[in-house]
Amino acid sequence: MQLNPYGQDAVNLAAALANRRPETAAELADRCRAAGLVLESAATPDDLDRVQAALDAWEKIVDAADERDRAELVNRMLAEAAAYPRLTDHDGGPWHLHYRDDGRPLGSVLAALIAVGTALHLVGRGMHRLRRCAVAECATIFADTTRTGRQRYCSHRCANRDAVRRHRARSARSPVS
Ligand SMILES: [Zn+2]
Ligand SMILES: [Zn+2]
Repeated sequence: MQLNPYGQDAVNLAAALANRRPETAAELADRCRAAGLVLESAATPDDLDRVQAALDAWEKIVDAADERDRAELVNRMLAEAAAYPRLTDHDGGPWHLHYRDDGRPLGSVLAALIAVGTALHLVGRGMHRLRRCAVAECATIFADTTRTGRQRYCSHRCANRDAVRRHRARSARSPVS
Protein backbone atom coordinates (compact mmCIF):
# COMPACT_ATOMS: atom_id res chain seq x y z
CA MET A 1 0.00 0.00 0.00
CA GLN A 2 1.34 3.41 -0.92
CA LEU A 3 0.17 6.37 1.07
CA ASN A 4 -1.58 8.79 -1.23
CA PRO A 5 -1.38 12.48 -0.29
CA TYR A 6 -4.63 12.22 1.66
CA GLY A 7 -3.85 8.95 3.39
CA GLN A 8 -7.24 7.63 2.34
CA ASP A 9 -6.44 3.91 2.05
CA ALA A 10 -4.60 3.86 5.37
CA VAL A 11 -7.28 5.69 7.33
CA ASN A 12 -9.99 3.50 5.76
CA LEU A 13 -8.03 0.39 6.71
CA ALA A 14 -7.77 1.69 10.28
CA ALA A 15 -11.54 2.22 10.41
CA ALA A 16 -12.24 -1.24 8.98
CA LEU A 17 -9.94 -2.92 11.51
CA ALA A 18 -11.30 -0.87 14.43
CA ASN A 19 -14.93 -1.54 13.49
CA ARG A 20 -14.36 -5.26 13.23
CA ARG A 21 -11.23 -6.20 15.15
CA PRO A 22 -9.16 -9.02 13.68
CA GLU A 23 -9.24 -12.06 15.96
CA THR A 24 -6.17 -13.93 14.75
CA ALA A 25 -2.82 -13.05 13.23
CA ALA A 26 -3.84 -14.92 10.06
CA GLU A 27 -7.02 -12.86 9.75
CA LEU A 28 -5.01 -9.67 10.24
CA ALA A 29 -2.62 -10.71 7.45
CA ASP A 30 -5.49 -11.60 5.09
CA ARG A 31 -7.27 -8.32 5.62
CA CYS A 32 -4.07 -6.30 5.17
CA ARG A 33 -3.33 -8.12 1.92
CA ALA A 34 -6.90 -7.51 0.73
CA ALA A 35 -6.37 -3.80 1.43
CA GLY A 36 -3.31 -3.80 -0.81
CA LEU A 37 -0.52 -4.11 1.74
CA VAL A 38 2.51 -6.17 0.69
CA LEU A 39 3.53 -8.32 3.67
CA GLU A 40 7.24 -8.95 4.05
CA SER A 41 6.78 -11.84 6.47
CA ALA A 42 4.05 -13.89 8.19
CA ALA A 43 1.93 -12.13 10.82
CA THR A 44 2.50 -13.23 14.42
CA PRO A 45 0.49 -12.93 17.67
CA ASP A 46 2.87 -10.07 18.58
CA ASP A 47 1.79 -8.22 15.44
CA LEU A 48 -1.85 -8.70 16.41
CA ASP A 49 -1.18 -7.32 19.92
CA ARG A 50 0.68 -4.33 18.49
CA VAL A 51 -2.19 -3.59 16.10
CA GLN A 52 -4.84 -3.89 18.83
CA ALA A 53 -2.88 -1.37 20.94
CA ALA A 54 -2.56 0.95 17.92
CA LEU A 55 -6.31 0.67 17.27
CA ASP A 56 -7.06 1.46 20.94
CA ALA A 57 -4.95 4.62 20.59
CA TRP A 58 -6.57 5.39 17.26
CA GLU A 59 -10.11 5.13 18.68
CA LYS A 60 -9.14 7.79 21.22
CA ILE A 61 -8.25 10.02 18.26
CA VAL A 62 -11.70 9.31 16.79
CA ASP A 63 -13.40 10.16 20.09
CA ALA A 64 -11.28 13.23 20.91
CA ALA A 65 -13.29 16.07 22.43
CA ASP A 66 -12.00 18.78 20.08
CA GLU A 67 -9.47 19.48 17.34
CA ARG A 68 -6.62 20.42 19.66
CA ASP A 69 -7.10 17.27 21.67
CA ARG A 70 -7.26 15.27 18.47
CA ALA A 71 -4.04 16.84 17.15
CA GLU A 72 -2.27 16.07 20.42
CA LEU A 73 -3.32 12.40 20.27
CA VAL A 74 -2.28 12.10 16.60
CA ASN A 75 1.09 13.63 17.46
CA ARG A 76 1.54 11.15 20.29
CA MET A 77 0.78 8.25 17.94
CA LEU A 78 3.15 9.63 15.29
CA ALA A 79 5.92 9.93 17.87
CA GLU A 80 5.40 6.34 19.01
CA ALA A 81 4.78 4.68 15.66
CA ALA A 82 6.48 6.58 12.86
CA ALA A 83 10.12 7.21 11.97
CA TYR A 84 11.51 10.03 9.82
CA PRO A 85 10.34 9.72 6.21
CA ARG A 86 12.65 8.23 3.59
CA LEU A 87 12.54 7.52 -0.14
CA THR A 88 12.39 3.90 -1.25
CA ASP A 89 11.81 1.97 -4.49
CA HIS A 90 11.66 -1.53 -3.00
CA ASP A 91 10.54 -4.55 -5.04
CA GLY A 92 10.93 -2.68 -8.32
CA GLY A 93 8.09 -0.28 -7.49
CA PRO A 94 8.08 3.47 -8.08
CA TRP A 95 9.81 5.84 -5.69
CA HIS A 96 7.66 6.63 -2.67
CA LEU A 97 7.96 7.59 0.98
CA HIS A 98 8.12 5.26 3.94
CA TYR A 99 7.53 6.72 7.38
CA ARG A 100 9.18 3.79 9.13
CA ASP A 101 12.45 1.92 9.37
CA ASP A 102 13.13 -1.02 7.06
CA GLY A 103 12.57 -4.59 8.21
CA ARG A 104 9.93 -3.78 10.84
CA PRO A 105 7.33 -6.44 11.76
CA LEU A 106 3.78 -6.06 10.41
CA GLY A 107 2.39 -4.66 13.67
CA SER A 108 4.85 -1.75 13.62
CA VAL A 109 4.37 -1.17 9.91
CA LEU A 110 0.61 -0.94 10.42
CA ALA A 111 0.89 1.36 13.42
CA ALA A 112 3.09 3.74 11.38
CA LEU A 113 0.76 3.53 8.38
CA ILE A 114 -2.31 4.26 10.52
CA ALA A 115 -0.66 7.18 12.33
CA VAL A 116 0.70 8.85 9.19
CA GLY A 117 -2.38 8.07 7.07
CA THR A 118 -4.65 9.58 9.72
CA ALA A 119 -2.46 12.68 10.02
CA LEU A 120 -2.50 13.17 6.22
CA HIS A 121 -6.25 12.65 6.08
CA LEU A 122 -6.99 15.17 8.84
CA VAL A 123 -4.69 17.95 7.59
CA GLY A 124 -5.57 17.28 3.94
CA ARG A 125 -9.33 17.09 4.23
CA GLY A 126 -10.21 18.61 7.58
CA MET A 127 -9.63 17.89 11.26
CA HIS A 128 -13.29 17.02 11.81
CA ARG A 129 -13.45 14.34 9.14
CA LEU A 130 -13.16 11.32 11.39
CA ARG A 131 -16.13 10.29 13.49
CA ARG A 132 -18.64 7.68 14.55
CA CYS A 133 -22.00 7.14 12.87
CA ALA A 134 -24.71 9.54 14.11
CA VAL A 135 -27.00 6.58 14.89
CA ALA A 136 -26.17 6.12 18.56
CA GLU A 137 -26.46 2.33 18.69
CA CYS A 138 -24.35 1.94 15.53
CA ALA A 139 -21.13 3.76 16.54
CA THR A 140 -19.33 2.57 13.39
CA ILE A 141 -16.25 4.71 12.69
CA PHE A 142 -15.73 6.26 9.28
CA ALA A 143 -13.33 8.70 7.60
CA ASP A 144 -15.33 11.35 5.80
CA THR A 145 -13.95 11.65 2.26
CA THR A 146 -17.08 13.23 0.76
CA ARG A 147 -16.82 16.46 -1.23
CA THR A 148 -18.80 18.48 1.31
CA GLY A 149 -17.27 16.94 4.44
CA ARG A 150 -20.65 16.67 6.16
CA GLN A 151 -21.13 12.90 6.23
CA ARG A 152 -23.02 11.92 9.39
CA TYR A 153 -23.77 8.24 8.85
CA CYS A 154 -21.61 5.21 8.18
CA SER A 155 -23.94 3.95 5.44
CA HIS A 156 -27.12 4.63 3.49
CA ARG A 157 -28.78 2.06 5.71
CA CYS A 158 -28.11 4.12 8.85
CA ALA A 159 -29.07 7.39 7.11
CA ASN A 160 -32.41 5.85 6.12
CA ARG A 161 -32.94 4.35 9.56
CA ASP A 162 -32.47 7.76 11.17
CA ALA A 163 -34.69 9.52 8.60
CA VAL A 164 -37.53 7.09 9.33
CA ARG A 165 -37.06 7.58 13.06
CA ARG A 166 -37.13 11.38 12.80
CA HIS A 167 -40.21 11.19 10.59
CA ARG A 168 -41.99 9.00 13.16
CA ALA A 169 -41.01 11.37 15.98
CA ARG A 170 -42.47 14.30 14.03
CA SER A 171 -45.68 12.40 13.26
CA ALA A 172 -46.10 11.45 16.91
CA ARG A 173 -45.85 15.09 17.95
CA SER A 174 -48.34 16.46 15.40
CA PRO A 175 -52.01 15.69 16.18
CA VAL A 176 -53.79 13.34 13.79
CA SER A 177 -57.00 14.75 12.42
ZN1 LIG B 1 6.53 0.81 0.18
ZN1 LIG C 1 -24.14 3.51 11.17
